[in-house]
Amino acid sequence: MTLATDVDSLLQKLGVPRNLYTQGSRTARSPLTGETIASVQDANTGSATEAIARAQAAFLAWRTVPAPQRGELVRVLGNELRGAKAELGRLVTIEAGKIQSEGQGEVQEMIDICDFAVGLSRQLYGLTIASERPNHRMMEQWHPLGPVGVITSFNFPVAVWSWNAALALVCGNPVIWKPSEKTPLTALAVQALFERAAAKIDGIPADLSTLLIGGRDIGELLVDDPRIPLVSATGSTAMGRMVGPRLAARFARSILELGGNNASIVCPSANLDLAVRAIAFAAIGTAGQRCTSLRRLLVHHSVYDAFVGRLKQVYGSVRIGNPLAVNDVLVGPLIDEMAFRKMQKALAEARTSGGEVFGGARVEDKQNPAAYYVTPALVEMPAQTGPVLRETFAPILYVMKYSEFGEAMEMHNSVPQGLSSSIFSTDMHEVEEFLSARGSDCGIANVNIGPSGAEIGGAFGGEKETGGGREAGSDSWKAYMRRVTSTINFGHDLPLAQGVKFDID
Ligand code: NAD
Repeated sequence: MTLATDVDSLLQKLGVPRNLYTQGSRTARSPLTGETIASVQDANTGSATEAIARAQAAFLAWRTVPAPQRGELVRVLGNELRGAKAELGRLVTIEAGKIQSEGQGEVQEMIDICDFAVGLSRQLYGLTIASERPNHRMMEQWHPLGPVGVITSFNFPVAVWSWNAALALVCGNPVIWKPSEKTPLTALAVQALFERAAAKIDGIPADLSTLLIGGRDIGELLVDDPRIPLVSATGSTAMGRMVGPRLAARFARSILELGGNNASIVCPSANLDLAVRAIAFAAIGTAGQRCTSLRRLLVHHSVYDAFVGRLKQVYGSVRIGNPLAVNDVLVGPLIDEMAFRKMQKALAEARTSGGEVFGGARVEDKQNPAAYYVTPALVEMPAQTGPVLRETFAPILYVMKYSEFGEAMEMHNSVPQGLSSSIFSTDMHEVEEFLSARGSDCGIANVNIGPSGAEIGGAFGGEKETGGGREAGSDSWKAYMRRVTSTINFGHDLPLAQGVKFDID
């Protein structure tokens, strides 16, 4: 079976009408082989503007539906995803190049956030606050906000939509999704599953979920439209630099989930067996194409040679290739040729800065010259300079030595990005220091695990050039609602706050 036939059969099972992936000027390709697997139609300014109007109408109906009933839709969506996990996970593998367990894992993440959101739909709680005035009560309520624009990156082609959509929907908001131009097919599949779920419940307004396939222009349209009060944008820091100010200029809200440059510190007391596995997964897994991928490793000089030697063994033996064709593959392809070129450029710069590069070469697939497989690269750097300070979205791990813990912390925080971090140590002084106010400056700080592979229960996101947004668990839902503070007078007098007197006859 060719990949295109495989895709056709998956999309049919997932309920996507054939005309949506056989017609149109945008080609969908698979990084597994580099071949074209379908063609899709982009939205245009007219159709997108009309779609936003329909989402606005859906909002007016949806915001008055009781939140637990809104949760029912997300419960059914979660069940659709459970039923479709195998097919959708395989499609993620084909379109984004993830190994099969990671493709399946991405769908599991969607199911998990649906479960979370269903529970949340019976909470969405505000506070009751003590008033200084007699016979007064203060309280806050959380109300739906409006249509939420969701712009997503190629590397989590479906999970990021669900982190936003599951919360937005229970919070009373429709969702308008602009997926990555590199992954339109998984988006079509998710939209079909959503429609299947909506059709199973009476009275669901039309257009609660809208899919707008397209490039940057369609993303910009969402960013600039005053009917969209919140845009959640996941992608590179370069994208966030454009999107953030445009949203701010119209006083819209943003959730920016941008690039990372994540580090781990390996201390003398670390369990090195555990650390090798954790670091290999974080640095090599997903071919280094996670926002939380490990990119910088700071190793204490006393364990450096032994530890880096073990890591090199793993780097030299890890199985690379097409996860649908070769068993036990741990490293799939880079998304495209551009990603490969950026990787090679970073490695060349690292060499110029005195780095010693182990791995990083292309693994040619003779039958598929447009597929880009590489051996993961481990680069021993004399200092944290040049390409080490930026995110290159490829499997490059820069390794550096430290002597004092304070020096490691200083290096750790001396990059522009602030997404995820971790420490390997059994020394509670070091661990607590790392987690303290003067420790890691990232949104995620882990102990004795790598920086990648978050669960949905916690808030996800990072600081500095990572954008400051938070998605998924904890109280991230508050970003999707508007807060109303109310003071209620149940007495017969009118005392004013702060003792102000305003007596009229
Ligand atoms: P990208 O920035 O190239 O594209 C992301 C999305 O933004 C795409 O849908 C794209 O069409 C859209 N876009 C680009 N410019 C735009 C503009 N000016 N206005 C509106 N939309 C615009 O990113 P990518 O290559 O798809 O993904 C990789 C990047 O995403 C990495 O930097 C990675 O770290 C980051 N990422 C971050 C998180 C996170 O949660 N922090 C999660 C996943 C990926």
